[in-house]
Amino acid sequence: MKSFRLKAPIILLIVILSALHLCQCHTNSRSAYERIRAHADVIKVINTHEHQHRADEVPATRFRFYQLLAAAYLEADIISAGAPPFDMRLIDTASLDHLWETYGNALTHTRNTSYYSHFVKGFGKLYGFDDLFFTKENIVRLSSEIERNYTDYGAWFDEAFKKAGFEVMFLDQYWKPFNTEVDKRYYALVFHINPLISESCKKPDRGAELKTIYKNASADGFAINNLDDYLAYCDHLFKKNIEKNAVCVKNSQAYSRTLFYEDVPYEEARVLFDKPSSRLTPSESKKLEDFLFHWIIKKSAEYDLPVQIHTGYLAGNGNTLDNSRPGLLNNLFLKYPGTKFDLFHGGFPWTGEFAALGKMFPNVYLNLVWLPQISRQEAVNSLDMMLDCVPYNKILWGGDCHLIEESAGSLEYGKDVVCEVLAKRVERGLLTEDVAFDIVDRIFRQNAIEVFKLE
Ligand SMILES: [Zn+2]
Repeated sequence: MKSFRLKAPIILLIVILSALHLCQCHTNSRSAYERIRAHADVIKVINTHEHQHRADEVPATRFRFYQLLAAAYLEADIISAGAPPFDMRLIDTASLDHLWETYGNALTHTRNTSYYSHFVKGFGKLYGFDDLFFTKENIVRLSSEIERNYTDYGAWFDEAFKKAGFEVMFLDQYWKPFNTEVDKRYYALVFHINPLISESCKKPDRGAELKTIYKNASADGFAINNLDDYLAYCDHLFKKNIEKNAVCVKNSQAYSRTLFYEDVPYEEARVLFDKPSSRLTPSESKKLEDFLFHWIIKKSAEYDLPVQIHTGYLAGNGNTLDNSRPGLLNNLFLKYPGTKFDLFHGGFPWTGEFAALGKMFPNVYLNLVWLPQISRQEAVNSLDMMLDCVPYNKILWGGDCHLIEESAGSLEYGKDVVCEVLAKRVERGLLTEDVAFDIVDRIFRQNAIEVFKLE
């Protein structure tokens, strides 16, 4: 009894001290995240990949919530949840009530996904929307604000771009790859090279109507009769893009073919090019494409342009995932040590393979672009793993969105992921806060300046 009386205050003291210690750890962990996040929030972000469309480039006649939803990645999750494909005519004309009846149920079933959450975050940042989920009611309110903003899209874009914290976006105009005019107040030009590769084996028959690259060549005064002519026109396009300050080339061919590009000798490609394209076998067409990409990589090194490549998961609701595996590019990294390769999307789901390539090759850079929106948790896990493997001057970030609301959400989400990983590392004593600040600066700005030699 006596001994209990003596021990009781000591036990109580221990309990209080442990509680205080726990509490302090908790406060520190919150404040480590908050301090790193506050640092991230003042960076002028260099966004290494976007597909921003002007309002008049989106197939919508008016802009309300559902038009933005149709342009967002979340559309794919809604279809995956069982909704019918998005019908723009219906979206433009039906009432919000009717659209909720059509898409609301599937939208509700996507409340768990990262596509959903980052989309909400964009409205949080730009519209002060502080609900966690979309509802039939709050969409009405949001819709009228969207409609008001889009009556003067130019002014709205300018306001939103600044509010989101961007300094510049790399603009990949895959929908008009020959356009070299971009608004320099917001964008840096990306030279989208898919058609140069894919059309090498689609030479029009004599007398047939010219399409895309052949049509452009003819308009620019180039006649394409053989492989050398074709390469001369491709070189002209390189020069034209460089004149307009292109910062890199971009390959997103994993959407239509394998990322394995074999090394095809010039002589073989020349003979294949001379053959009518309609008589090429699939493997001959692939050989011509492969030759073209090797040629482009060599040219990119010559013109000092990094090569961005889509790897991993493919947007939409149906494609061949295996085509996009990052390890398929390995032969290129070995053969072209003088070219900088910027690999996209964490190579998801091959995030380990992606990181291994960045670790092995000094000329392979790892871009987190879009990964946080595909899976927030996978982005957290794989960034943590990348930081174990790869020097942090090789990690980049981009948004990969079509409209500014979603880009703002992607940046909020990207910062959330990066700051969470770094805060945990600071708490575990693996990093100091000032190194964490440096990593944030590097991922969202400084690495892009160095890799792409921005002014
Ligand atoms: Zn993209």
